[in-house]
Amino acid sequence: MSFNGIKLFKIFGIEVHLDYSWFVAFFLITFSLAEGFYPSMYPDLPKTYYYLISVISAVMLFVSVLLHELSHSLVAVRYSIPVKDIYLFIFGGVALFQDEAKTPSQEFKIAIAGPLMSFFLASIFFTIGYHYPKDDLFNGFLNYIFIVNFFLGAFNLIPAFPLDGGRIFRSLLWKKYGILKATEIASNVGKYFGITLIILGIFMIFTGNIINGIWLSFLGFFIKRASKEALISTQLNYILSRFRVDNIMRTMNPLNPDLTVLDFINFVKPNISTHLYPVLTQDGKILFLDIKDIQKLPYYQQEELTLKDVIKPIDKYVSPEEKLSQAYRYMIKEKLEEIPVRYKDIFLGILKASDIEHIINKHLGQENESTNSRRR
Ligand SMILES: [Zn+2]
Repeated sequence: MSFNGIKLFKIFGIEVHLDYSWFVAFFLITFSLAEGFYPSMYPDLPKTYYYLISVISAVMLFVSVLLHELSHSLVAVRYSIPVKDIYLFIFGGVALFQDEAKTPSQEFKIAIAGPLMSFFLASIFFTIGYHYPKDDLFNGFLNYIFIVNFFLGAFNLIPAFPLDGGRIFRSLLWKKYGILKATEIASNVGKYFGITLIILGIFMIFTGNIINGIWLSFLGFFIKRASKEALISTQLNYILSRFRVDNIMRTMNPLNPDLTVLDFINFVKPNISTHLYPVLTQDGKILFLDIKDIQKLPYYQQEELTLKDVIKPIDKYVSPEEKLSQAYRYMIKEKLEEIPVRYKDIFLGILKASDIEHIINKHLGQENESTNSRRR
């Protein structure tokens, strides 16, 4: 999932952002409240009143979602899981955790904190609304915010991973089945819930409820995709956090910069399996030969050029004691197939994404085998 938008402010060290899609939601909500909800409940008021209260309602919806996400985040931070950003977008909010919960009980408490906050807010607005004159426009506002928070709490409790309810569900399965199997089950529920919403949305579109139908279908797509992404992220995190970069990096001896490209192609290249190769320059620096850079050279240039003519520095690297999960995430983010491993200023080797993927596949294979044999 990636978000783009504007930074709003920082609270408890967490950066709050508005994704551009949020503005679509803000516009739609304000418009439908000002043209539908408020005039139907409190007729014959000036239009500016309806729009004013609708804008305030939409802002309060945003504050409600933010408080929900902040509750998750503050519990997570208490368990030393860093949270850097909260994004508010068309389907609500998301707090980006830098790590996953370490135990089922941590996961349970982090997940339930959001809905509890929403129900708490709902009860406050319900109580104020209950004692407020019923025929006043402001009472409609209190009711709306009550409903919004109640819905936020209730919807998120649906056991479809990665919704809060899905995380709670996973934390309950975790003890019995282990995190990987628990995530797989919860993520499947998320997937089928997403598909159900898509079908429901399409049905609504065909029965004339077009805008809500479109929104619901997209929400379904979003949950379906998020359930898959969260599953992959858990698998990666769980499997790869048991390894360090130096467990699987390929150590290499730097080449002589005076070697011709042709000799490299004929004698060195057949014996290596990386496309980056270290070369030690005269002044003691390590630069890199990228096989892609020499592939298209005509034969006469291969004969003429030496490695020092084609090597270049690389400024992205990982350190040997880094967890493999962290290194792999960085490589995916930077779209790198290979990355040099460096300790302080010393070059150690090359880390290959395909080697990491090999580990993942091997472990997932074993995991499936062991669950199959248990079933038999
Ligand atoms: Zn939540």
